[in-house]
Amino acid sequence: MVNIKINGIEYSVEEGTTILEACRANGIRIPTLCWLKDTNTIGACRICVVEMTGARSLVAACVYPISKFDEGKNILTHSPAVLESRKMTLQLLLSDHNMDCLACARSGHCELQELCRELGVDNSTYFEGVKNEFDIDYSSKHMYRDNNKCINCRRCISACEKVQGIGVIGANERGFNTEINCAFNMDLADTACVSCGQCIAVCPTGALSEKDDTDKVWDALADPDKIVVVQAAPAVRASLGEAFGYPMGTPVEGKMIAALRRLGFNAVFDTNFGADLTIMEESNEFIERATKGGVLPMITSCSPGWVRYCEAYFPEFIPNLSSCKSPQQMSGAIIKTYWAKKMGYDPKDIVSVSVMPCTAKKFEIGRPDQSASGYPDLDISITTRELVKMINRAGIRFRDLPDEKADSPLGNGTGAAVIFGATGGVMEAALRTAVWKLTGEDPSSPVDFTEVRGVEGIKTAEYKVGDMTVKVAVVSGLANAKKLLNMVKNGEIDVHFIEVMACPGGCVNGGGQVIVPADVRNFTDIRAERAKALYSLDSANTLRKSHESPDIKEVYENFLEAPGSHKTHEVLHTSYTPSNLSK
Ligand code: SF4
Ligand code: SF4
Ligand code: SF4
Repeated sequence: MVNIKINGIEYSVEEGTTILEACRANGIRIPTLCWLKDTNTIGACRICVVEMTGARSLVAACVYPISKFDEGKNILTHSPAVLESRKMTLQLLLSDHNMDCLACARSGHCELQELCRELGVDNSTYFEGVKNEFDIDYSSKHMYRDNNKCINCRRCISACEKVQGIGVIGANERGFNTEINCAFNMDLADTACVSCGQCIAVCPTGALSEKDDTDKVWDALADPDKIVVVQAAPAVRASLGEAFGYPMGTPVEGKMIAALRRLGFNAVFDTNFGADLTIMEESNEFIERATKGGVLPMITSCSPGWVRYCEAYFPEFIPNLSSCKSPQQMSGAIIKTYWAKKMGYDPKDIVSVSVMPCTAKKFEIGRPDQSASGYPDLDISITTRELVKMINRAGIRFRDLPDEKADSPLGNGTGAAVIFGATGGVMEAALRTAVWKLTGEDPSSPVDFTEVRGVEGIKTAEYKVGDMTVKVAVVSGLANAKKLLNMVKNGEIDVHFIEVMACPGGCVNGGGQVIVPADVRNFTDIRAERAKALYSLDSANTLRKSHESPDIKEVYENFLEAPGSHKTHEVLHTSYTPSNLSK
């Protein structure tokens, strides 16, 4: 332990703790911009500076580890010199910043804006001079980059390179000309960016944002000739409440459904139905492969960022990918085939919208081989954040809404479906049904497979199922996927079934979820908090296995015949192609 003073008050802190963490632990928040715990510790932005006895200049609190040489020193966290330096840093950042806050996608949730407010820095021009004028990169389907609002904090680079193991963005040029971009300033769409949106989730400003597709939804809702239907993914209900003041991890399923209905959709469905359908098909596919000598390990295919990653970086694993479409696409396919026929609608008149925690879903809806009715399975995919915008624009008082249920059929889901939103959830749901299939109609077959739960990046487990021993692995975050796939390739691990989620912690931490500022993100495990909401919904559901769902039984009886049938292959399965985009 080292004895130090913070603002003249004595504390004892563990050697090696940074000044920032020592202050935080003792009730003092030091503002940050570039710092992301364990990911981006570069001490570059200089917002977190403090004064320290004996130091010749201000020190960056986020990268200064307290050592025994600091015994007895006093740290000043809000002295005049500290506050003046922080203000000057902000003024310098604003001197090369497009301060168009009114029209900015991040206004109200922007860490730069919030710091300026906190430190009393307004948008007067403190430093006159040349400003960079960068072209905005609109090339991708899922996001755009406006470097005129970038502060070069490099949080996006660390998310792409260290968390996702991809690295298609970096700092080009030097000094005043520095620009975060792709190699040779290529368009993002020409690179092997997997559309995960993790860079957007960590960006403190409006420099990175998802493409806003809400106008397309408003236009469809206003068209009297269209039947506009919506589905919402499991993880959306675990994050949406945060935008309306609920504590992180509060499930808001009923209010979410009520809000969608009040926006004017003709039918409100639940992607949980598609998740149950995915389990029916995926567990059947796994058993077929395992018992008939098919390609193993089988790897899940419901995360479009992961599928894109596999096609670009590990094409040799394409035969291992399950041929199942994702829950979003399965729900979409059933809406425009089975439901359209049942209701007497022409699929061409249906506009199918999804609300997803994910930016890669915007890319997925345009993939080939995803048009079971002859029309795209999905027409528009919006993120949780875009749904928040729509709810606010429509003047819906979210907290005052009653809890409502989605429309049936296609609106009900089991507990197995809702846990799809957390890492390990797809595997656990698949095991619940696979065990039942292999051991017969035993109502006491297990429900909880706790070994695959939790936020660790790579988890493994082994289960005895009937005569089979099933070895499974669960990974989230693409850097972890890379590690595991290399272990499989090198024969260092023997597994039969792998779940991969592109985003760390799974969809609850998807790139389209409600933005969590670094000040919270650095000190709260948002993956674990949001996952709790889903597991609480699972345990509260009377149906916890996909094959028990009455809606699923109805669709198989009246339309799909049986898991793995010719019909399901026409409607619910797809194919993959190696990609040659720049890495
Ligand atoms: S990035 Fe932040 S400070 Fe800049 S224009 Fe947008 S809201 Fe305003
Ligand atoms: S969307 Fe994902 S892969 Fe693409 S640049 Fe951002 S972090 Fe990297
Ligand atoms: S795009 Fe955002 S995260 Fe990346 S360097 Fe610029 S401000 Fe930071």
